[in-house]
This record gives sequence, structure tokens and C-alpha cells, in this order.
Amino acid sequence: MEAKASNGNAAANSLPITIRSVNKSYGAVVALKDIEIDIKSGEFMTLLGPSGSGKTTLLMVLAGFVRPESGSVKFGDEEVVAKAPHERGIGMMFQNYALFPHMSVSSNIAYPLKIRKWSKARIEAAVDEVLATVQLSGYQSRRISQLSGGQKQRVALARAIVFKPQILLMDEPLSALDKNLRETMQVELRSMHERLGLTTVLVTHDQREALTMSDRVAVLRNGEIAQIDTPAALYNAPKTAFIADFIGESTLLSVSIRDGAPYYRDQLLDVADSTTGQAPGLLVVRPEKLEVGNADQRRPDRNYFAGSLERVLFQGESSLAFVRLAGGELITVRRHLNEASNSDLPAVGSPIVLSLHKSESRVVSDDRGR
Ligand code: ADP
Ligand code: MG
Repeated sequence: MEAKASNGNAAANSLPITIRSVNKSYGAVVALKDIEIDIKSGEFMTLLGPSGSGKTTLLMVLAGFVRPESGSVKFGDEEVVAKAPHERGIGMMFQNYALFPHMSVSSNIAYPLKIRKWSKARIEAAVDEVLATVQLSGYQSRRISQLSGGQKQRVALARAIVFKPQILLMDEPLSALDKNLRETMQVELRSMHERLGLTTVLVTHDQREALTMSDRVAVLRNGEIAQIDTPAALYNAPKTAFIADFIGESTLLSVSIRDGAPYYRDQLLDVADSTTGQAPGLLVVRPEKLEVGNADQRRPDRNYFAGSLERVLFQGESSLAFVRLAGGELITVRRHLNEASNSDLPAVGSPIVLSLHKSESRVVSDDRGR
């Protein structure tokens, strides 16, 4: 059923998406394996993963351009897996936004409405309304070739949402933009989402973009879901080394288990959480969670690591210190101090003690080689 244009709140028309046991192979390549995701109505869900992990294939399954070998996709209560793309009521936006460069802004935005055989008056009203939504009122007769990159992006978004879709799908929509514009557009897309409340699925390989924009992130790896969580939970409580490594910066220290307790070398660790059971694993150490300590004043509830300071890099708002631990690992420590305040660091080459609170100490399974 085609989404009806209405002046009501688009959020009222947004739908949850239920993905069950979806499988898709290309010859011997398994692109998607037993994918299960529940996306809530109005949720901003990001599919994140390295190149080739299956993100685009999954988005194309939602859009109807790829038919999975098995599984179910529901928009609300309706099974859509066998439906054609134009029957699904979705808006789409891609990296190469495929606007017609010599046509005007309004002709570009009107295109999906003409296909839907809307009347001229209704098209004009819808174009005006959506241009206000993307903050391009008054740009109706501009040629696409006369717009900046960010304005083109907003026209592409306007075209994707002008017919009031119940679901918005975006595949790397910002990756062609330079860094500053990309960050501005991330904020714009996010605030647009908050205004419209449209169920949104974004594909990106950029972990920072995923953390910035999403309500939740589904991390894909080799066609499988590695973890689905809020940005904060993915960062603070990764379930595996792959996630800890892929999202944010971390040093991973080998942990053995003796009599059920975790050890780094000969040192008993006090940890908040372990996902490995009795198997050896890795301690996730985020650079900004380490404190430079004092070996004479050990506090309870912290794990201490001794080493020597190898170098300090000034990076503007923070600096990064590299510490060689006794076990040979190079661990990084981020300090949000200005250069002058780094005077509390010992001289390069001197011994240094780092500490990590037990609530920040998590052991995860080592799945990096898989
Ligand atoms: P991503 O978007 O995460 O980079 P894709 O979904 O594009 O990943 O691809 C997942 C896997 O499926 C990759 O190994 C890719 O080479 C393969 N693949 C994707 N589309 C096709 C196709 N049309 N024919 C053959 N293999 C494909
Ligand atoms: Mg892709």
C-alpha cells in the first residue's frame, strides 16, 4: 500500500521492522547468515561493519532489491519479503544521490510523486512542505548543478521523504562528503529524525558516525550479527575483542584463568564482567579510562599496570602517552590535559604506573582471528 500524503505527524505512520532468519548467498559467498533484528517504530538503527560484511545486502533485502533464500521481513504486521520495492512504502538515499543535475530542485523532488501520479497542485504543496523540512525553502527553481554538496544531500533527503514513507533506508549517504560537511550532515540527519520520528536504517562503515547518529547499532561481521546494542553499551561493554577493536580505541591484554579467576601475567585482576567463562580472554583497556598512578598509593577497586613511558604525542585537546608494559605490550593512555599539564608525567624512559577501575575492567573472548 502506498503511503498517503497527509499533514499529520509522519511518526504516526512509521513502522517497526522485524527481520527473522534471513539468509542470502552469492555462489559460495555467504553474504547474510541467520540475521535476526527487531527495529522499533521510529528507531534510528545503524548497520555497521567492515567492507564486505553484508550491510548493503541486508539493506537491499529491506528495500526489496535482493530476495533472500530464506527468512522473513515484516514492516509492522505485514510480510514484505516477496514484495517489489515500489510496493513497500520506503524512502531511500544513497552515497551517489542520483539527482538529475540539469533539472531544478523541485523537478527532482517531484519525480517520485509524478511516478505515483499525484496531481500538480498536490505535488507543489508536498514539494514546498518538504523543502521547509530540509531548510531549503525558496530553492524550488535552482538547478542541482548550482547547489553545494550539503544542499544536494538535503535535496536527496527531501526526495526520499517527500511521499511520506513509513521507513527510511540510507546506504553510506554521507561518505562522499568531506569531513566537516559530513559531521554537519550527521547532526542535521539526526535532528531531522528526531522531528519526523521515521523508522530509519542507516548503513555505514564509519564507527564514529554510527555512535553519533544511532539509537542502536547492529554490528555485522562476515554476514553475521556480532552485537546489537546502544552506542554507549557497544563502547563500554563490548562482548568480544572484534567489537572492542572495531569500536573506538583499545589495547587488549591477554588474560588467563586460574581457579576461576582472571590473571594478567601473575597479577590477579578485579573485573566487572567477563564473557569468556573459564576460557582465556582479553582485558579491554580504553585509553581515556587509564589513570597515571602512584605505585606507593594503591587504592582498592583498581587494577595496576607497571611499565615505562615510551613517548607522548600532543594532539590538541588531548595527548596520547605510549607505555611499554613489563609483559612487552604497548598500551596507550589518553589524557585530556593541555601540553603544560603533562608535567605530572615522568620523563620519557622512566617507570610509570597505570591503573584502571574495576568497573571499567572487562574480559572478552578473543574472536579476532575468525
Ligand atoms: P558491505 O555493504 O558490508 O560492504 P555487501 O553486502 O556489499 O557488503 O557484500 C557482502 C558480500 O557479498 C561480499 O563478500 C560481496 O563481495 C558479496 N556480494 C555482494 N553483492 C554481490 C553480487 N551481486 N554478486 C556476488 N557477490 C556479491
Ligand atoms: Mg556496502
